[in-house]
Amino acid sequence: MKSLQYADRSWNPLTGCDGPFGPGCAHCWARAMANRLHGRVGYPSDHPFRPVLHLDRLDDPTHWKKPQIIATCFMGDISCHPRGHLFDLAHAMRRVPRHTYLILTKIPTCFAGLDWPACCLLGTSVEDQAHYDLRVRVRPCRDRLLDWLSIEPLLGPIRLDLYAPPWIVIGYEHGPKARRTEARWVEDLISDARRLGRRVFFKDDPRMAADLPVRPDGVDLMETGF
Ligand code: SF4
Repeated sequence: MKSLQYADRSWNPLTGCDGPFGPGCAHCWARAMANRLHGRVGYPSDHPFRPVLHLDRLDDPTHWKKPQIIATCFMGDISCHPRGHLFDLAHAMRRVPRHTYLILTKIPTCFAGLDWPACCLLGTSVEDQAHYDLRVRVRPCRDRLLDWLSIEPLLGPIRLDLYAPPWIVIGYEHGPKARRTEARWVEDLISDARRLGRRVFFKDDPRMAADLPVRPDGVDLMETGF
């Protein structure tokens, strides 16, 4: 998946979202894409961004033989789905643990109470300090902390603290209405991440393309050739 840089492919068994959940949602590309595709490839014609479980996609990972990093359910936010959908998603990933599934939500409390397999990296997305403080301290499961953090689009200064997950992605907003990210916000984030021993991947700087995630089971994806 070229636009993400850090994943090999996308997989969207759950789509849709009831957001917005903050200023980071203002130019939601997933909503724009769903609206464009309305009435096709599983997007309802009446309300294309309505949360939908696509049963016919749940088995897709079984067909991908080579282990892959999979951007999972990025066409929406899993927090807007009923628990049954999340249970089906967790079960589908558990069945094919050779892949690494990246999941992202703006409401990380939605992870609670479900048995997420180690092959999926649980993440949250923030855009400024207020949303970092609100979301990053959530403990998604009793015995598990967040695995990664997406700061995209970066809309204001953020200082990381000890709650910062081990892997952090930073990105600008792109497009004709893109809001400005100041270089010093990025520099401060990278410096905080280095100081705290976190891996950081700044999407808009190709020199950082090697800073890929480590799976919770300890497998370093940089060493496996991803
Ligand atoms: S939570 Fe994600 S999918 Fe939902 S509106 Fe915001 S950016 Fe879009």
